[in-house]
Amino acid sequence: NRQVQLASRPEGWVKESDFRIVETDVPAIGQGEVLVKNLYLSLDPYMRGRMSAAKSYAAGMELGDVMVGGTVGTILESNHPEFKAGDTVVGYLGWQLYAVSKGEGLRTVSTNAAPVSTYLGVLGMPGLTAWIGLIDIGQPKAGETVVVSAASGAVGSVVGQLAKARGCRAVGIAGGKAKCDYVVNELGFDACVDYKAGNLAVDLQAAAPDGIDIYFENVGGPILDVVLTQLNAFARIPLCGFISQYNVTEPYAIKHFSALLTNRVKLQGFIVGEHAAHFPQALDELGKLVTTGKLKYRETIANGLENAPKAFIGMLKGENFGKQLVKLA
Ligand code: NDP
Repeated sequence: NRQVQLASRPEGWVKESDFRIVETDVPAIGQGEVLVKNLYLSLDPYMRGRMSAAKSYAAGMELGDVMVGGTVGTILESNHPEFKAGDTVVGYLGWQLYAVSKGEGLRTVSTNAAPVSTYLGVLGMPGLTAWIGLIDIGQPKAGETVVVSAASGAVGSVVGQLAKARGCRAVGIAGGKAKCDYVVNELGFDACVDYKAGNLAVDLQAAAPDGIDIYFENVGGPILDVVLTQLNAFARIPLCGFISQYNVTEPYAIKHFSALLTNRVKLQGFIVGEHAAHFPQALDELGKLVTTGKLKYRETIANGLENAPKAFIGMLKGENFGKQLVKLA
């Protein structure tokens, strides 16, 4: 077996030396357990938080722990009544090639309906995050303008397409022309603003001329500050992520906080796992949209577990284009 463990807690930017790759035996299973061979590992921004000891919604990892992570894999052996050898399962088995599980948090998925990798992306945690944040918290109405940051990414790409499906104007914010072209031409957003071009306030106003009714927040920092100045009365902000701040040692100080009051804005942070009651409805809609080709997605796939640390750091810097995965087998 091969594992990636947390070797040290990063201060500021994550470094490859914060990870340790170790070779171990493939574990034997006991009663009520399964042995899973992982096929794909999902790399997600939340892992940066777990590497830290700072207070958050979930406890940090301990040094020497196998890195946490969502996986899809095949059951090789089973002593568990609900799983059999050959089943494809999604769960959180971490950055490793093989894992023993008692079945907690493990879900069998069909391999006919969609490629297995989608259960870590558009039909998995990121897709659910987009749905919960936009639909439950954002409460979009036809004709409204929805702006989403990190728009070409795993979560953002789904947010804009769901907004379009509900008759909203969908505007993305992304880094670089290639990502913006993809967001408009492939994903069908109405517009996308390249925040790296240096004219975010002017360009966003042109892309959202009627103001912003919903801002699905993935990045925080100076982008949030610009958006705050262009909100409409009674705007909603599902606060999903703050990726621009995950690796900084000096947090960005928001200047336009009072816009929340003057516009009577409803801002709500949320953690997708706490909204499981709505997963069946969300997965039903996402599944239908994917199988009918109406919901598009893109993946960046690194090859081999040993390349996971580099791919993870790259994803935090925006080097991914769509959902970042690691192919393990
Ligand atoms: P993405 O696939 O969107 O990848 C991260 C992207 O963030 C990069 O590609 C980059 O895109 C963008 N980014 C990085 N740094 C900056 C910066 N300084 N300013 C602006 N954009 C930046 O990741 P996910 O879709 O998986 O996650 C998106 C967000 O959602 C994250 O903040 C994550 O923490 C959050 N999240 C929250 C959940 C919850 O339950 N609340 C669950 C899942 C995700 P670009 O090249 O366009 O800059």
